[in-house]
Amino acid sequence: MRFRRLWAVAAAVLCTLAGLLLGPVQLSAAATSGPALAAAPNFKAPYPCGQKWTYSHHSAEVRRALDFVRADGGTTSGTPVLASAAGTAYRYYEANGAGNYISIEHGGGWRTYYFHLGSFSVANGASVAQGQQIGTTGSTGNSSGAHIHYEQLYNGVGQNIVINGSGLAYPGSYNQYYLTSDNACGGAGTPYMTWGSDVRVRSDARLSAPVVTTLSGPTSVRVLCQKQGDTVNAEGYTNNWWSKLRDQNGFISNIYIDHPSAKLPDVPLC
Ligand SMILES: [Zn+2]
Repeated sequence: MRFRRLWAVAAAVLCTLAGLLLGPVQLSAAATSGPALAAAPNFKAPYPCGQKWTYSHHSAEVRRALDFVRADGGTTSGTPVLASAAGTAYRYYEANGAGNYISIEHGGGWRTYYFHLGSFSVANGASVAQGQQIGTTGSTGNSSGAHIHYEQLYNGVGQNIVINGSGLAYPGSYNQYYLTSDNACGGAGTPYMTWGSDVRVRSDARLSAPVVTTLSGPTSVRVLCQKQGDTVNAEGYTNNWWSKLRDQNGFISNIYIDHPSAKLPDVPLC
């Protein structure tokens, strides 16, 4: 934890002062050479399916970050920021640097950063699925306008960003290169993680409905829709909302969806 905090502080100092103290610096050389890396997750764009954004990298930028803004006519500010791969999300705040930001630990030494968030959408330490909303795009901290500052790190070292197995360019200004997201395009449903063990999936939102399958532990699921059914008391919560899971073709109590709201904010009614 202490290491992570120090690293973030160092990042902010670099972000704000590198141009001033060092002049134009290229941070790429050290990051791109060295021993072969452990296989990275299949990272996807950190914003919703189908949206087209443009990106750039400025010479005083921290590590191998890219800054993303929308280029499809939509508004950048407030747009959902999505996990580019599954992992564990940690929330931070840094007033003069990254602002509200999330670090997702993906395992195997891999981590992604999402800076300047307008708001957080997950709890600190939450397990998140690829494509799950983790926050909204904003301009908190040292930022001149709404954008997603995005990074991929391996063992704490910033890497050249790779999306769907292809390395991105590092242009000095926007509107030269574009990336259309295919994150969470894999069909209908909103991605969530479940929690708890031996969670029963039922054919309807009733405790008497037949069990169609059981989730042995935390599971990445896609929620098609939600509706009110039998009231469930479990794990210290009371809730009558149930989620329909796409791949399991059944319902679980929203108690077992890893989200603080009883009724999920971004899932339609069944
Ligand atoms: Zn940046």
